[in-house]
Amino acid sequence: MDTADIRRRFIEHFEKAGHTAVPSAPLLVDDPNLLFVNAGMVQFKPYFLGQETPSYKRAVSVQKCVRTPDIEDVGKTTRHGTFFEMCGNFSFGDYFKEGAIELAWDLVTKSREDGGWGLEESKLYPSVYAEDPEAVALWKKITGLPDERILRLGKKENYWSMGVPGPGGPCSEILYDRGDAYGPGFDPVSLGPDMPVELEDRLLEIWNLVFMQDELSAVRSKADFDIAGSLPKKNIDTGMGLERVAFLMQGRENMYEIDVMFPVIERAEELTGKKYGADHGDDVRFRVVADHVRSSMMLIGDGVTPGNESRGYVLRRLLRRAVRSMRLLGYDDPALPELMPVSRDKMAETYSDLRSDWERISRVAYAEEEAFRQTLRTGTSIFDLAAQEAKGSGQTQLSGSKAFALHDTYGFPIDLTLEMASEQGLSVDEEGFRRLMTEQRDRAKADAKAKKGQHRDAQAYREVADGLGRPVEFTGYSEVVSEATVRGLVDPSGVVTSARAGDELELVLDRTPFYAEGGGQLADQGVLELGNGARIQVLDVQSPISGLVVHQVKVLDGEVTVGQQGQALVDIERRKSISRAHTATHMVHKAFREALGETATQAGSENAPGRFRFDFSASGAVPASAMADVEARVNDLVLADLGVHAEIMTQDEARRSGAMALFGEKYGDEVRVISVGDWARELCGGTHAGRSGQLGVIKLLGESSIGSGVRRVEALVGADAYRFLAREHTLVAQLSEALKARPEELPDRVNDLVERLRTAEKEIERVRVQQLLAAAGQLASTAKDVYGVSFVGHRADGAGAGDVRKLALDVRGRLPQGKPGVVAVIGSTNGKPAVVIAVNDAARTWGISANALVKAAAGALGGSGGGKDDVAQGGGADVSNADQALVEVEHEVGRAATQR
Ligand code: ATP
Ligand code: MG
Repeated sequence: MDTADIRRRFIEHFEKAGHTAVPSAPLLVDDPNLLFVNAGMVQFKPYFLGQETPSYKRAVSVQKCVRTPDIEDVGKTTRHGTFFEMCGNFSFGDYFKEGAIELAWDLVTKSREDGGWGLEESKLYPSVYAEDPEAVALWKKITGLPDERILRLGKKENYWSMGVPGPGGPCSEILYDRGDAYGPGFDPVSLGPDMPVELEDRLLEIWNLVFMQDELSAVRSKADFDIAGSLPKKNIDTGMGLERVAFLMQGRENMYEIDVMFPVIERAEELTGKKYGADHGDDVRFRVVADHVRSSMMLIGDGVTPGNESRGYVLRRLLRRAVRSMRLLGYDDPALPELMPVSRDKMAETYSDLRSDWERISRVAYAEEEAFRQTLRTGTSIFDLAAQEAKGSGQTQLSGSKAFALHDTYGFPIDLTLEMASEQGLSVDEEGFRRLMTEQRDRAKADAKAKKGQHRDAQAYREVADGLGRPVEFTGYSEVVSEATVRGLVDPSGVVTSARAGDELELVLDRTPFYAEGGGQLADQGVLELGNGARIQVLDVQSPISGLVVHQVKVLDGEVTVGQQGQALVDIERRKSISRAHTATHMVHKAFREALGETATQAGSENAPGRFRFDFSASGAVPASAMADVEARVNDLVLADLGVHAEIMTQDEARRSGAMALFGEKYGDEVRVISVGDWARELCGGTHAGRSGQLGVIKLLGESSIGSGVRRVEALVGADAYRFLAREHTLVAQLSEALKARPEELPDRVNDLVERLRTAEKEIERVRVQQLLAAAGQLASTAKDVYGVSFVGHRADGAGAGDVRKLALDVRGRLPQGKPGVVAVIGSTNGKPAVVIAVNDAARTWGISANALVKAAAGALGGSGGGKDDVAQGGGADVSNADQALVEVEHEVGRAATQR
């Protein structure tokens, strides 16, 4: 029976019994405690908590679920997916235990002809909460099973709560015994209170029935809570794993082999050339691939994009694990374009959005794989080097600073470092890593704080606001000069009544044309001219509490007292320049959404005079072609000289007009909508150019990642854009002159030069090594005899550790065969010595160890070293002791030789 049929029978069974079929909620819900929807009951929570009343008393659903805590189990157990579908039936104060047990048992055991699943009764074991005798009696009555077929389990398994005070209750599960091949024999009567781990795959839990009956007043842990009383209205919440039932009914070994998942494994077999079922380690990887490809596709489908935090990070981790599993199976090419469509074809039978939204879903997934491949390319060599180094110096652990550098510089997530390290038999100093991460985070926070001017304590502002009695009127949408009255002065000591020339403080007017920084737009600047001749410079404008606009000012001449009247004059050029930048931001935002899809939503912006910064969510780098398209598009629309209009409307009207409302913005009922022509429409409180033509030119400077799946584009507008282009032009002319090439030939010319330089450098390196090694033959002949050992001690000043090693090994190879031989070479770069000791086999049978010798040498050099018996390496602080170090080594060789 295929999965679709099992699902259909589930819904029909409960619909026939008076349940309303409710579609699955999306995987993302607005619940601060939940990363993703993890059970069927989530969308019904308000009903269970009594916050809302449903229009039905019985419901049935098949809910998409993601459980990230199960990620480590995937592929290792037979039954845990990160994504799975939970079938459930729900009763809101309607039927209770008896109804729930009857309905479930009926569906499970009813014959297939009658619409059931026809599972064999003799294989089924109900479990109950040990302190729920009512459930035992009901199971016996309804199923006719004897007492000893019913398992009694403890709180951990069979008592349900939300982890917080509120509803709770005992559970009953339906378990399916898969037989002796899947676990040891068991005695149902004495089993419990916990389910033994070795039985979990044998006694497969397929369905959990929760009897919500208690009111919990405190929940300290799964097994430690206080029951305050019974719920006035008792509820039923059940969850049945669709994949689990499917693999039982399809005669498969585990959930990854069912009809909707196995095709991905089959495709992976074709790609990797490996056979599923041949090797346990590989099988786990195949299953991880099948699971993770599906989960990440479903998550992207519901709007998650890869990032470095919370949900985005889960998705990133799933995608990366899928890609890495494929690499470990031996497939190095982009894997998702091969695998994800296979999963889509299966899952789209139920979730047709996967097909209609495929363009976006695949773009997000493939871009993430591409970015990860890039990370792997750079990071893996760095990692290998670090691992080699750690092993070379005899360590079993990768340092926290190495792990941090991999993360910080190469974007290597810590779990990848952990995984790769363990493949190489190394551990990682995780604590050290986390300490460095915290330090970095604290530093970033402190920086951010220091940058933003501190507002005085809110108390003084509240005092001024209370004195005003109404919000400050902003006149700046229609004028740049306004008549106004000084209504408050605040200095570091608090509210004051006057200020004199030279004072810097904060000033509040009853009305102002000055725009306070907000919505990404920088504040206006300008002057205030008061009736008494006082002149005041406005440096910054903020709105520290709602309804209050505070000017950060410096008194230039005269005296200011509260109550004085005068004129507020905005610096018009600056304002115009900022407004142009703001209009340009809207246009670029719209153009990016056209080019990259609706998920390219604004995540932040800064509109400054002549330039702007625009942050938006996107997975991976924006292709250069998209950047060029966006730039061309907005400049076309600059030329089209579209009118820019502001309108006030209700939220609903705004939404209907297609305005882009940004998630996270809080607006009242009435909103202000800015339209550029009838093209870009966005909720916005900022100031704008009158027509797009006033923007002149928009020049995008480039884009980069600012972490967490957010990209940043920086750009120039108007005169600043023109000046930038003119400067670039001059630069190209200069280069063209210097390289004697036409501008269009410059890239080739420069590539050519770089290539030649590289070849020359390689040649120099080759010659250098040749010279170094040429000395080796001659060096071997200078070996002296130290109590029967051929010993060469040599200084190679200027040679780095790599060359020193090469030289030492080469000389060792040229010493007389069969006779004990030891080579010690000390090189140095920038005054720092590097020492390598090489010992041949004959010397080792004499008990001479390179590792011991290098310790002696490094000791003399004021450093440390280590390695194996045949080759060891070390360093030190001061090369001036090199001769002394060679003497020490020779002395040690002598000692070892005479003592053998
Ligand atoms: P388990 O102990 O096997 O992890 P659970 O106790 O976490 O299961 P519930 O929270 O009771 O499971 O969820 C209800 C049903 O959903 C389970 O009986 C099972 O059939 C299914 N289920 C739970 N977790 C998963 C998963 N990770 N993958 C597939 N199915 C699952
Ligand atoms: Mg679980």
